[in-house]
Amino acid sequence: MNDPLHILHHTFGFPTFRPGQAEIVDAVIANRDVLAILPTGGGKSLCFQLPALCREGVTVVVSPLIALMRDQVRGLKEVGVAAASLTSGNTDEQNAEVFAALDAGTLKILYLAPERLASAGPLLQRINVTLLAVDEAHCVSQWGHDFRPDYLRIGALRKQLNVPLAAFTATADEETRGEIIRQLFPTPPQVFLRGFDRPNLNLAFDAKIAPRQQLLDFVKARKGRSGIIYCATRAKTEVIATAIRAIGIHALPYHAGLDAEVRREAEACFQADDGLVMVATIAFGMGVDKPDIRYVLHADLPKSVEAYWQEVGRAGRDGAPADALTLFGAEDIRLRRSQIDEGLAPIDRKNADHQRLNALLGLAEALDCRRKVLLGYFGETPPDSCGNCDLCTEKPVRFDATEAARKALSAVLRTGEYFGQEHLIDILIGNLTAKVKARHHDQLPTFASGKDFERGQWQAIFRQMLARDLLRPDPERQGGLRMTENARPLLRGETLLELRLDRMGAKPAREVRELVPEADEPLLAALKSKRRELAEAAKVPSYLIFNDKTLIEMAGRKPRNLDEMRGVSGVGDVKLERYGTLFLAVINGSAQAMHPARRKLAGKETASIFDQLEGVMFELRLGESGLDKPLSCTSAELARVVAQKPKSQETLADIIGDLKTSRFGTGFLAVLAEG
Ligand code: ADP
Ligand code: ZN
Repeated sequence: MNDPLHILHHTFGFPTFRPGQAEIVDAVIANRDVLAILPTGGGKSLCFQLPALCREGVTVVVSPLIALMRDQVRGLKEVGVAAASLTSGNTDEQNAEVFAALDAGTLKILYLAPERLASAGPLLQRINVTLLAVDEAHCVSQWGHDFRPDYLRIGALRKQLNVPLAAFTATADEETRGEIIRQLFPTPPQVFLRGFDRPNLNLAFDAKIAPRQQLLDFVKARKGRSGIIYCATRAKTEVIATAIRAIGIHALPYHAGLDAEVRREAEACFQADDGLVMVATIAFGMGVDKPDIRYVLHADLPKSVEAYWQEVGRAGRDGAPADALTLFGAEDIRLRRSQIDEGLAPIDRKNADHQRLNALLGLAEALDCRRKVLLGYFGETPPDSCGNCDLCTEKPVRFDATEAARKALSAVLRTGEYFGQEHLIDILIGNLTAKVKARHHDQLPTFASGKDFERGQWQAIFRQMLARDLLRPDPERQGGLRMTENARPLLRGETLLELRLDRMGAKPAREVRELVPEADEPLLAALKSKRRELAEAAKVPSYLIFNDKTLIEMAGRKPRNLDEMRGVSGVGDVKLERYGTLFLAVINGSAQAMHPARRKLAGKETASIFDQLEGVMFELRLGESGLDKPLSCTSAELARVVAQKPKSQETLADIIGDLKTSRFGTGFLAVLAEG
């Protein structure tokens, strides 16, 4: 069967294409040359893997990283696709196996490492290659960070084989795009540029108040979930990893200073484990292909908007909810500014870098929807508000900071642009320190003119002024603050300044979004432990069995038989056969999957009512027609229904709400009337 939808359902087990995938798949199947730009986690691999299965012959995939290739090959084998790779990491035996399979014509997809391109020509000409796919196509760009000289051979190989070429990348900038086209395609390909949004990522920034505590609170609330914490320095990764282990959560440091062996081991653990936290410098990332990373926390401000988006993009590739939190403070801004100022780049480049930093700070100090700011930066027309960022969830309190900012600027100017933030704040709040006295700064008209704010509030004002590039640390004066040209209109009273009022003191921990309703948590945990058991036995990462998204859906839909299991996203034919019964047993059979609310009832006569209600609920899960949106009550709700025995639709609706009452009401009331 060569129908793409059939293959999507049966081989990959996905009910629908992700945005953009269908058009790309169609074009590749139609033998057109294609350049597709999709965000990280957008689902690029499927766009060449699926067409490969629709055609005769072998699809050759050029991919830059051995670890990534290995994972993709394993993933394909898990869904029953004949795939293999040729890399410098292969043993002679492995190579012989691949060659034999190629000659026998049994392989569908062959991954090829770039260093193999030079010598692979004759082999590839022999084996009926019908499509060439290039992953991470930006590696062909000489100006990018990921340049791989071997990628320059791809154009010639394509000519030799005379097959269509499909190139994929997440890097969108026009320069790189142009270069990819020039290097890889003899005539312009069909270009697909998909939206850069990743709607399942929740975006948040918090000003550092008690950074260590903020970080630990965040991690603790997500115990059991995989996450990456990015730190600015190697030393900090070690300190933070130790602190996280001290609260009983498995964490490992990762940076370029560690032995290659130690790093490889950490990578392997992270890949295989469900709940490991990687505390890393940005050395960790390229080649991380784990789809179920549930959060990325920046413990320090990233370098630029592009870097930020790439780093947080590593979370939630499976499409299930994931969190991105960035902690930042005035100190981060000073550090990034001085890194630019003290670098060796020419002045134009430094100015451009300051502007890029400004764009990131604009995102950090945004006053409304972060997605709007972010997508706007990438040139997309964003929605008015996304509903999935901290500023959409909780509107910040703004205040007119014009007066305050002018006082701050005046303190800066009257002290000769020579002093740092804390001394300036001492002057503003009238704090008679030894330094203030020694410099006679208590004689200034600005002295004590800012008494209406506390130190913490002034710190927030200075941070925001630094972020808006109204003030800059002067590299020649040990970081003394200087006023920038941007601040002149404000000083002259020509513009107003609006800032956000930071909440002071302890901030209530941000609510953690549950992956499943509370009632399904024990079931999800049981499914995960079954997954771990199978993964350990097969020595593969857990997500290769099923990813989080699939288990979450399983826990929600509670399939009762293999037919229903078949409807869960990520369950294709092969996995259904391999794992279906095992997971059904967890869902329907085992006591550990029972919700505490239900377990408390076990053995009492009410248990049968509970079970009957649950039966009704399963029957009507997809409505009378079986085609409606899935709906279910939590076990806690059912337990309350059992306890309160409502007699009418109205009283039932008080417990489970109108929507569920309209679906289950008649059935539930019938059970209760009998019971
Ligand atoms: P990219 O290479 O673009 O970063 P991947 O190809 O690794 O992304 O895909 C990310 C994840 O999305 C993988 O776990 C993959 O199984 C999943 N995925 C891809 N396409 C679909 C789809 N149509 N429906 C559901 N999940 C999908
Ligand atoms: Zn938003």
